[in-house]
Amino acid sequence: MKQYRIHMDDAVMVLAGKDKGKVGKILKILRKKDRALVERVNMGIRHVKPNPQQSQPGGRIEKEMPLHISNLALVCPACTKPTRVGYRYLEETGADGKKIRKRVRFCKKCNEILAQGGKKK
Ligand SMILES: [Zn+2]
Repeated sequence: MKQYRIHMDDAVMVLAGKDKGKVGKILKILRKKDRALVERVNMGIRHVKPNPQQSQPGGRIEKEMPLHISNLALVCPACTKPTRVGYRYLEETGADGKKIRKRVRFCKKCNEILAQGGKKK
């Protein structure tokens, strides 16, 4: 499976387009399209039909539109700057006493290890 440097729930900054410079949280990653939805960023109007089953009234609703992943930069929670993500390996000892090599992301600006994010569903 493809691995992006950006995961669900990460804070990101938009690098291009009409919302350049805005910061938001990743709501969803659209793997097939290499795009992501960012909270309150790149809003567009979507026309929806009324759907009584979901008690949706229909009409025009504002909705996040997908942005290409390459136009997003992770905002590091430690130094709060948009940064590049690097990978490094940590060695951990598992419950059974075996060593596990674990890949973690880190901030290339301050070297802080980043939360892995991406709730597994
Ligand atoms: Zn940092």
